[in-house]
Parts: sequence; structure tokens; C-alpha cells
Amino acid sequence: MVGVSCAGSGDGTIKLPSLPYNADALEPYISEETIRFHYGKHHSGYVKKVNRMIKGTAYANLGLEAIIQKTRGNADEIGIFNNAAQVFNHTFYWNSMKPGGGGAPTGIIAEKIEADFGSYDAFKTAFASAALSQFGSGWAWLVKDGDALKVIKTSNADTPAEGLIPLLTVDVWEHAYYLDYQNRRADYVDAYLQHLVNWEFAETNLVG
Ligand code: FE
Repeated sequence: MVGVSCAGSGDGTIKLPSLPYNADALEPYISEETIRFHYGKHHSGYVKKVNRMIKGTAYANLGLEAIIQKTRGNADEIGIFNNAAQVFNHTFYWNSMKPGGGGAPTGIIAEKIEADFGSYDAFKTAFASAALSQFGSGWAWLVKDGDALKVIKTSNADTPAEGLIPLLTVDVWEHAYYLDYQNRRADYVDAYLQHLVNWEFAETNLVG
């Protein structure tokens, strides 16, 4: 997986990366209160749990992405996988947004979206539909699969499968939007697309 560096570089500890903006920077679309709970309790909680679980095991000195790769699909290590994957997913999510973001992209990523989805509007429809149709908790993603861009969804803590390169993600666990939107996931996803998407981050992931 490429994208953000999630730390965990072999000193036995997975670190909680800093938020790339202030906790109130995404208002009014995502409140400071939501970010404080989401980052300060949920994301930070996954970091604490995974560190507790890997302590003294063969995973202790691996980086985060290696832990995710080695525990994926292993029923005995599901707790480590879930917490490690959620550390990765949340770091990727914070970086997928920025104040003043959203709307249609420009440049290389815009051309690629037009080529692979037909239009920006078609991409938006596909992304929103993945985010809304994810039953229960999970994530919607824009990924690069070989040469093609695709929209996928993953459930619970799952990350895009090996070989897929994530470009953007949105968290559709209720904790991501309930304080601001209650059950209106569609309004949250719409705000994400219209006002928050960090297209520079997506393009950096696209061009590697
Ligand atoms: Fe979350």
C-alpha cells in the first residue's frame, strides 16, 4: 500500500500520526467535536490497542503495513488486523480531506477520472453509491487497479486488497458523522465530495 506514512518503523511502537490540520479546520462540514472524538478517542484507541496486542509478538518490530499484510485473512490474528487496519484507514481518511477541498478535480487526476468513469459526475455517483450502500460500518475508496481507477467499498476495518492502490477514502462508520448528521449518511458523503476531498493527496497517490 502506498500513500500516507503511518509510522511503526521497527521500534516496536505504532505511532498516532498528527492530524494534517487543526481539529476545527473542516467546519462546518465536520465539527471540531466530531474530530476530537474521532481522532482523539477512536483513532488513538486503535493505536493503543494494536500496540498492546503486538507487544512481545513477532509483529512487534514490523511496520504497520507489514502487520496488516501478514495478519489479513488470518482468523487467529483478527484483533491485530482490525486495529492495525483501522490505524491505516483513519490516517488515510484524514489525509483524504482538507479545508476548502472538494468539487471537481483538475490536472492529471481529473483526466484519469474522466477517462475511466466517463465524467466527474459519474465518479461522484459511483463513490456516493458505494458509501451509501455499505451496510453497517466500513469505508468507500477510490483505488487504482492496474491502470484503471475504480470505486470500491470495504466493511468494518478492511483495507483495499493487495495490489489495489488507494487514492482516497471516506469513513462511513457512524462515529464519523453521527454527531453532525445523525443518520443522514448521504448528507455527510455529499459534504465530503463537495467541500472536503483533498485531490492533491489523491493525485500524489496516483502518480506515486
Ligand atoms: Fe472512524
